[in-house]
Amino acid sequence: MGRYNRAVVLEQIQRVDGISRLDIAEHTGLTPQTVSGIVRKLLDEGIVREDGSSRVNSGGKPRTTLRVNADAGSAVGLHFDPAELACVVVDLLGRPLVTRRIPTPPGADPAEVVAAMAGLVEDVLAEAAVPRERVLGLGLASPGPIDQEHGMVVAPPQLTHWTRVPMRQLLSAATGLHVTLDNDSTAAAIGERWGGAGRGVANFAYFFFGTGIGGGLILNHQVYRGGSFNAAEFGHTSVTQGGLECYCGNRGCLETLVSSAAVRAETRRRLSAGGASALTGPFRADPESIDIAAIVAASRAGDPLATGVLEEAAGYIASVVVNVVNVTDVDLVVLGGHGIRHLEELYVDTVRAAVATRVMSRHIRVVDVTLSPLGADAAAIGAAALVLHSTYSPQLSALLSD
Ligand SMILES: [Zn+2]
Repeated sequence: MGRYNRAVVLEQIQRVDGISRLDIAEHTGLTPQTVSGIVRKLLDEGIVREDGSSRVNSGGKPRTTLRVNADAGSAVGLHFDPAELACVVVDLLGRPLVTRRIPTPPGADPAEVVAAMAGLVEDVLAEAAVPRERVLGLGLASPGPIDQEHGMVVAPPQLTHWTRVPMRQLLSAATGLHVTLDNDSTAAAIGERWGGAGRGVANFAYFFFGTGIGGGLILNHQVYRGGSFNAAEFGHTSVTQGGLECYCGNRGCLETLVSSAAVRAETRRRLSAGGASALTGPFRADPESIDIAAIVAASRAGDPLATGVLEEAAGYIASVVVNVVNVTDVDLVVLGGHGIRHLEELYVDTVRAAVATRVMSRHIRVVDVTLSPLGADAAAIGAAALVLHSTYSPQLSALLSD
């Protein structure tokens, strides 16, 4: 109970950043005495500080406000993507201090990946000049599905020879840090809630575009995880009946139609079929040169083939977003992740137009659609936020505690 109350108080101070003891008691339902006792401990530990200034309440009596002492600790977040490793150090308010990314070792043998991760964590901590004893822990955001209970990465896409790798244990041994593991898209949604577009929003859906496509749902201020911690797999909702078979076992999944690989493949297919395009020359010279940047550039220059491919992909995404909003009635949809680099504008505009005209609740209120301000770093920042959340958030700390 003591630990729970402490997390409740700390979360209030983090969220408001400048709150009095009495306001904390009012917001949490704890007695002023309990709040005072917890705050005294937090002040002793240096996690919280009195900011010296005071506010005047309605009765005219000054109240000392409390803030999180942002430098008192830090957390490391690591995003494991089959293509790249991203690492960030954040302070106690979740603000990034240093971010760095390296390619995932080719072949991606688990031992090599863990060694590369440990090296990256060392480098980032050295660059941020954070003393080891101030690091609260390491959050790892990994492609799902994951076995939360055993800290295992079960069978990530594109890493078919990885089966039930005990990443939490391996990474903890390699870094000496306490490791918290979560699904990359859930981590990104938590990061978004912490320091991005979802700050203070009770209900939102987060579409995460990595190598694959995942999602996160925050409902009533809580991460919605589902029965096996694998909720919000937006990338594996069926869009076309009888479409391509997906590695997940389903057919016509969103991911098979709009992932970067799928968009490139569809462009090459249309070019091979002889579609008129400015990309035909470069395609004949080197098919590999037709990447997302080239397709977007051609579309911006008015190329009809490139524009057709991208608009079709955007339309598939918009349809799934409309379905998700109709099912969950969220107030906000956030699009993010490195998989939509170059495509941000087109996707947000298309989805916004669809939500404004096709969602059931559109006559009652406008559902906002926005791009993640955290960009490609959302999952790494979210992974670090997992560590802070396990310190702050009572619900999450209960879920994540070993
Ligand atoms: Zn699928």
